[in-house]
Amino acid sequence: MRVSEAQKLIRKIYGERDSRRGILGTSLHLGEEIGELFRAIRSKNPGDVEDELADSLAWLLSVSELLGVDLEEAFTRRYGKGCPKCSSIPCKCPEV
Ligand SMILES: [Zn+2]
Repeated sequence: MRVSEAQKLIRKIYGERDSRRGILGTSLHLGEEIGELFRAIRSKNPGDVEDELADSLAWLLSVSELLGVDLEEAFTRRYGKGCPKCSSIPCKCPEV
């Protein structure tokens, strides 16, 4: 499934609910979901990690949808030609 297809699917599943909740509440859920992903990674349970990655993407798509951003287009514009800072693939920026 392409990212744009996933965004349309998330819109169909949660669009009304996300609109009622609003951008701040939905963004808060995204932040909580990233925390759950971090805990799953620490627990080293591969099944949990996959679920939390999918949930994190779903919330990111919900936030994108509420902001009127096509995430596939934004990602392609930002990373389609390599690192946004050095324009290289792989990145040649100094590691911090
Ligand atoms: Zn770079």
